[in-house]
Amino acid sequence: MTSTPGPQRDVILAVDIGGTKFAAGLMTARGVLLDRSRVEVEPDVGPQSHFAGLVSVVNEQLEQARTQHDVRVRAIGIGCAGPIERNCETVSPLNISSWRQFPLRAHLEELTGLPVYGDLDAKALALSEGWLGAAQGVSSFCAMTVSTGVGGGLVIDGELLDGATGNAGHIGHMIVEPGGRRCGCGARGCLEAEASGLAIEAITGRSPTEPTYDIMRRTGRLVGRAAGMICTSLDLDLVVVGGGVALGFAATFFNAAQEEIDAVAHVGQGVAARITPVRLGDQGPLIGAGAVGLRGLRREVSPRRPVPISAELLDGPS
Ligand SMILES: [Zn+2]
Repeated sequence: MTSTPGPQRDVILAVDIGGTKFAAGLMTARGVLLDRSRVEVEPDVGPQSHFAGLVSVVNEQLEQARTQHDVRVRAIGIGCAGPIERNCETVSPLNISSWRQFPLRAHLEELTGLPVYGDLDAKALALSEGWLGAAQGVSSFCAMTVSTGVGGGLVIDGELLDGATGNAGHIGHMIVEPGGRRCGCGARGCLEAEASGLAIEAITGRSPTEPTYDIMRRTGRLVGRAAGMICTSLDLDLVVVGGGVALGFAATFFNAAQEEIDAVAHVGQGVAARITPVRLGDQGPLIGAGAVGLRGLRREVSPRRPVPISAELLDGPS
């Protein structure tokens, strides 16, 4: 790679891997997306064909960085639908059936020569909403996505929690209806088996884009139940929710969720927890992925192993 003379801004190449699309973008240290591109995930193709689709948007953004924006890409940050192994060493997104234990991090590193850092999409969302979105300035909160599946991320005292296997905040498998529907994980009545887009379709026989009032209320209530238990156990007073199902159900969902939280969390103990929609909209996943990259870079920096990174890039989210 040739370098252009003169001072260049450093950016993160953000990569969002959802069930139906791959997106990539260039994010500055301030969380501004300079450029982005996306490609639909082709159904039923092999693992290398999926990777070729991803490579197309990654290369497009690397090219844009060189030719259009005069910026230097310092790292790749990934937000990926789960399950994943820590740092996206392998990924197995539920809706990309031919990626099972696909070694994404190594493939991207080999392709680009850049350091690659990855995490679950819901944890990435927690980083972005805490940095620039609805939880900005809040040191302890829970972020959730309610869409095809249900995911979550927990920030406590300013730190995104990883947990023993990197899956902290996997709220979708909290049981909200004892004895309820069988979940993909094997248990019954998990939030994901009762309130995800897939579950709603299975229960009602209708697309979650055409919900009844009752199903919007019920979904809100169940999400509020799980959120309320988390708020109580971790002493949180804010839950930020995104995802197509929650945002599509809008006020009906959020009002029902708030009523349930009021009924189960911090009852009689002062401050009530609040549930609110994400604020970064369709930029959230890429900003979150970029934040994962920033977080990874900052963790590399230590007195023992200094990494030459511009001070600007080290000023991002924790
Ligand atoms: Zn489950």
